[in-house]
Amino acid sequence: MERRKVTFKLYPNATEAERLTGWIRLHCELYNAALEERIDAYRKHGKSISYYDQQNVLPEIKADRPEFVELGSHALQQTLRKLDLAFQAFFRRVKSVQTPGFPRFKANKRFAGFCYPDPAGWKLLQNGGRGATLRIGSGKSAMSIRARGQHRFGDGAKPNDLTITRKNGEWYASVTLRVSEDACARARSGDATRGIDFGLNDWATFDNGETIANPRFVCREMPRMADLQRQQARKQRGSIRSRRLGSQAAKLHERIGNLRRDFLHKQTSRMVRECAVLATEELRTRHMSRSASGTKEKPGRMVKQKAGLNREILSAGLSMAHQMLAYKAAEAGTRLHVANTRQLKPSQRCAACWAIVAKTLAQRTHVCSHCGHTAQRDQNAASVVLIDAHTPGTGVAARPKPLSRQRAKSKSVTRETPATESQDS
Ligand SMILES: [Zn+2]
Repeated sequence: MERRKVTFKLYPNATEAERLTGWIRLHCELYNAALEERIDAYRKHGKSISYYDQQNVLPEIKADRPEFVELGSHALQQTLRKLDLAFQAFFRRVKSVQTPGFPRFKANKRFAGFCYPDPAGWKLLQNGGRGATLRIGSGKSAMSIRARGQHRFGDGAKPNDLTITRKNGEWYASVTLRVSEDACARARSGDATRGIDFGLNDWATFDNGETIANPRFVCREMPRMADLQRQQARKQRGSIRSRRLGSQAAKLHERIGNLRRDFLHKQTSRMVRECAVLATEELRTRHMSRSASGTKEKPGRMVKQKAGLNREILSAGLSMAHQMLAYKAAEAGTRLHVANTRQLKPSQRCAACWAIVAKTLAQRTHVCSHCGHTAQRDQNAASVVLIDAHTPGTGVAARPKPLSRQRAKSKSVTRETPATESQDS
């Protein structure tokens, strides 16, 4: 059994939204009260209170405050568990001599949502296509909230838990499904073998010279974001206008995130669908941003902000792409090879003769001083990781210049699923 999370957008009507907001307020109140209890007990009696101490008081609270009853006891327990996790993380970091922040009281506005840890107290009904209904609560007080979303795992998928969140005034329901491995499997339409180099000028370059351009939102939405932040900086902090701009910026942030996720899902799905072998290199976080500083003659404006945005948008995209490739490759039975960057140095190595040819980031063409091989820089790097995928580590012995071995643990990794692999052959 695999676990897959799917998120549905909720469309509560005014009454339902008001009730959900009230529920979040109560969960938030419980969280803060439990935190206060822990702090008090420690200050006054030097005693620490455990999760179970707090869980055992829940029936009393419900007797005292009947409005808590309809939230469901497991959901309430889950909120207490959330606080317990915050404390565990705090103490873990104290032990490892870091400087952790003490668990904080949360403002109702910032409280993200609540969670049902098991399939009791709610039901998600798929009504054909993308339409869905979330039934939540029991008896007369139950709500049927309109939802939108779809998953590909079929009727066999068993719901496991539900998290309801509120973000920028919109409501979402995330459901974890338990899915059989067969239902997770992806169809594959091709058996290509590809090396990929992810970069900044083009989002991806393949070993055969094909490229995927950077998604347009990077250059289209980013200036708007910088503009909003600039405007907000001119307003008085905490004023209505400043807050209005803040929420606009938050919405734009979310929009960029959605566009990026959509782009990455489509591209990685296509790569995995068309290829039997995919090779790429480990993620380097250092080189991830295009210089915003410009040149000496033509210095860039808003250098810091632009660099920050650039880095954020592009690097977040790449680590997400790597994660997506990993699980999608497993689902499709595609062999994903992740080359060790430091050992292999794909951007410096010649794909034809395996010699190291030093280049700066500005040099866009690979010209080998040993064998004369010429290729576009990223294409050469993609070819190098692809060769490494066929002959990881050992294959280099067949090459003129063997790689120097580094620490044993820093080997290139190949992920594959034996089950699906054997079906193919
Ligand atoms: Zn060469």
